[in-house]
Amino acid sequence: MADSIALVLEKQHELSIRNIELPSEMGESDVRISIDTVGVCGSDVHYYTHGRIGPFIVEEPMVLGHEAAGTITHIGRKVTGLKVGDRVCMEPGIPDANSKASKLGLYNVDPSVVFWATPPVHGCLTPEVVHPAAYTYKLPDNVSFAEGAMVEPFAVGMQAVSKAKISPGDVGLVIGAGPIGTMTALAALAGGCSKVYVTDVVQEKLDVLSHYPGITGVLSKGDDLARRIALDTDGWGADVVFECAGHSSVYATIFDQVCPGGCVVFVGMPVGPIELNIVAAQAKEIRMETVFRYANVYPRAIDLIGSGKVDLKPLISATFPFSESIAAFDRAVLAKPQDVKIQIKMP
Ligand code: ZN
Repeated sequence: MADSIALVLEKQHELSIRNIELPSEMGESDVRISIDTVGVCGSDVHYYTHGRIGPFIVEEPMVLGHEAAGTITHIGRKVTGLKVGDRVCMEPGIPDANSKASKLGLYNVDPSVVFWATPPVHGCLTPEVVHPAAYTYKLPDNVSFAEGAMVEPFAVGMQAVSKAKISPGDVGLVIGAGPIGTMTALAALAGGCSKVYVTDVVQEKLDVLSHYPGITGVLSKGDDLARRIALDTDGWGADVVFECAGHSSVYATIFDQVCPGGCVVFVGMPVGPIELNIVAAQAKEIRMETVFRYANVYPRAIDLIGSGKVDLKPLISATFPFSESIAAFDRAVLAKPQDVKIQIKMP
């Protein structure tokens, strides 16, 4: 353990920048990373404002942050494929490599996964972290640290699109234009959709997406969306619907806009149990998929960003220095519709 400065969530509603004891021992398969940029995630904000997410409760001071990029400063004896000086981003979840889930390639649902900034595990809003090389990924030279710190939320969209098994030319519909809905729309386009509709109740959120060719924002009011989808698909429906709002009002009609034989991917997380019209799904033989974080998508996500096929830069709304990271969180709490991602840059 070593004393290090960090952004610490002391308890609900209370953040401080102070020194705290953090793990610092390196294993032979680990790398040490000097953190450059950390994105503020909805989950970080939720712990700040609510002190818990479901069963995960902040009971002791915890360092926030899990969307990070930085530079390798040390490598363990057994590390190959990474070297000192490499610019990297990290998967924040570390599974047990010997678990059944990991052996099956489902390491995101490993019950023993240790995930940054999920109580009681500290996050990465601190100048240095030690991380397994296996979950650390080199960034191409043309991908900035800021973009590298966007790989984590983009990976959720990648997971959703992988689960959807899109065919070239599919019509996609994303419900909810928050950060994850936005990432999912971009991943769906990169994954082969000919066009992606994104619907939300807030026009300003849709405006952020207006300069992405292939994405059409539709304000969710009355039956505008149904009419638009019907018009563009000869009444057949969207091939893939991604539920990214997590709002209880969405689920009652979730199967209306999807085509027979289509797929609905549940990405958003409603706060409690919700009702689904199973017969409506059966009548169209709709395939349903669910998403929890991601597994095995980071390399492909980084390649898509590096190739220029996916441009996440317009989604970085503001960058705060680490010394002002409490202000960064207070800005994120406001949830301005134009703000997609707030980032913090380490000194
Ligand atoms: Zn996140």
